[in-house]
Amino acid sequence: MSLRSSRNIKFVDSDILVIGGGFGGCGAAYESRYWGRNLKITLVEKANIERSGAVAHGLSAINCYMGMQWGENQPADFVRYARGDLMGLVREDLIFDIARHVDATVHKFEEWGLPIMKDPETGRYLREGKWQVMIHGESYKPIIAEAARKSASEVHNRIMVTHLLMDKVRPNRVAGAVGFNVRDGSFYVFRAKAVIVAAGGGSHIFKPRSVGEGAGRTWYAPWSSASAYGLVLRAGAKMIQMENRVVLTRFKDGYGPVGAWSLLLKAITTNAYGDNYEAARFDEIKSLVGKYAETKPMPTCLRNHAMLQEIKAGKGPIYMQTQKVLDTKEKEEIGWEDLLDMTVGQAVVWASQNIDPKEKPSELTTSEPYVMGSHATCSGAWASGPEDCAPTDYQWGYNRMTTVEGLFGAGDTIGGSAHKFSSGSFTEGRIAGKSAVKYVMELAGNLPQVDEVQVKMLEETIFKPLENFEVGRNEIVAGSVAPGYISPLQGLQRLEKIMDEYAGGIGTFYVTSEPMLNRGIELLSMLKEDLDHIGAEDIHQLQRAWELNHRVWTSEAVLRHTLYRQETRWPGYYYRGDYPKLNDAEWHAFTASQYDAKTGEWHMSKLPVHHIIE
Ligand SMILES: Cc1cc2nc3c(=O)[nH]c(=O)nc-3n(C[C@H](O)[C@H](O)[C@H](O)COP(=O)(O)OP(=O)(O)OC[C@H]3O[C@@H](n4cnc5c(N)ncnc54)[C@H](O)[C@@H]3O)c2cc1C
Repeated sequence: MSLRSSRNIKFVDSDILVIGGGFGGCGAAYESRYWGRNLKITLVEKANIERSGAVAHGLSAINCYMGMQWGENQPADFVRYARGDLMGLVREDLIFDIARHVDATVHKFEEWGLPIMKDPETGRYLREGKWQVMIHGESYKPIIAEAARKSASEVHNRIMVTHLLMDKVRPNRVAGAVGFNVRDGSFYVFRAKAVIVAAGGGSHIFKPRSVGEGAGRTWYAPWSSASAYGLVLRAGAKMIQMENRVVLTRFKDGYGPVGAWSLLLKAITTNAYGDNYEAARFDEIKSLVGKYAETKPMPTCLRNHAMLQEIKAGKGPIYMQTQKVLDTKEKEEIGWEDLLDMTVGQAVVWASQNIDPKEKPSELTTSEPYVMGSHATCSGAWASGPEDCAPTDYQWGYNRMTTVEGLFGAGDTIGGSAHKFSSGSFTEGRIAGKSAVKYVMELAGNLPQVDEVQVKMLEETIFKPLENFEVGRNEIVAGSVAPGYISPLQGLQRLEKIMDEYAGGIGTFYVTSEPMLNRGIELLSMLKEDLDHIGAEDIHQLQRAWELNHRVWTSEAVLRHTLYRQETRWPGYYYRGDYPKLNDAEWHAFTASQYDAKTGEWHMSKLPVHHIIE
């Protein structure tokens, strides 16, 4: 019996549907309940919210905390910091909005049981750096998941959302979403008055450094499949800064975090000869990007750039001099715990390579690029800003609503506001939740309608990879190579190769150009055609097929944005070899795109960057 004929169909009606139960989604569910006491709030998650998302495994620091109760920092300071790190281009209104609320979020985390380390001398939270506070964070995710579970009317774990549903009569309004249960294959139709997408950014878009036996080991969790972008951009939401991919400097091979080592323990980074190359390369960097080189601290991408130049000059490996700072037992514990709280694999790499950080330095390197909106980059949807501080052309309705009516976002979904991290993403979820409640309450009788024809078509599309496999496997004569279909893994490897070789991955030292990008788009369009011929041998592979689909759409946005933006603004994240310099006269602007599902066309444009903080 075919899987199709035995399929269950489930309908779930809600006032507010939250897609993705990571940091943004849990914040959205929590706050929606606070303002919408009687509303039906549904949270849907492809894994299990207890341990899901980018940092399911835990963290050792909360990276966004002002400390206003002790007068440590003010929201405007944070805007200046994020603006500096992104070399001038951020949505200051959105960042300010998060910064003014984020402390309250962190205080709630502590109230809910998250152990935050204290400075024994001051009694305040122990600072890792100016914006970070240290936590014992192995159980960080279960703690925030509990708050979401208690707030949502229903949590549907193990449902992979594949598409958003659009309103039958108003094409630019969202009406819900569809997906399938990754355990039993049931088809789910979620009808909702408002939808908040918090489905996270994307790893495995560019070919990772770890291949062969280490395949799958990446800095960003391998299950982060860019669904935040794959869902909203196909619904016609305007996107910004999709070219602004992130590259991280981390301990080599294990991708272990360096924050506690450099910021708290003050370990320095040198080239193989012990030289401080960052300082030595300052003038060279200044000639490339001008005043932005003087930003303190030096922007993340420029620090990558200095390292890359050093490696190209043959002065690598680059080392973090851990052995010079571990002079007490406490410091040694902090160093190890930093890895054990969030990247146990790094400790294993050190053990396997006979590295005792007390005895020898450890290699650092740059990662492959990732696409995300909450870390040191800000890809994502263009969103309406807060009424009291967003410039008028940044507001068209409800705070954190995208350009699609009723469609909100949080965390990696929303573009222009880098450095939210875990606490800021939860805070943004809260902001989006509050707005979505207001939207639903003001809808009155004007409710969205789901188009049954659209639902039927999507059902066929979603389960087609199972049929492709059932039919296509009969043509296999030996092994597993099928003439009639490609597997999700084959598709993923093809995508990673295209992005690596043409869009500025590790294979080209992050360099790309107009001809390379055009060739990448050409090859990607062929891969998109082949997505209709993906074969999934079971429900698990069906999930992989749809994760690939979201990654491919996101990649197209990355390619098109990178092509449209004719400058190199963030050397160290990527280089336009044909436009190697930063060009403020033309490009002190956001890069925007909008996909039109009716025509299949992408409309590219620039959007103004307004500075609201001195
Ligand atoms: C490696 C790494 C280290 C980090 N370190 C720190 C740190 O030290 N301190 C700090 O404060 N922050 C840190 N961050 C940042 C923080 O993790 C993110 O900012 C935050 O998780 C973003 O929240 P989000 O809700 O957008 O995405 P996520 O938290 O990733 O949540 C997305 C959720 O959506 C679900 N989902 C995805 N696709 C679908 C789909 N199609 N259908 C249904 N559900 C779906 C996922 O399973 C997941 O639960 C780190 C991030 C990374 C990647």
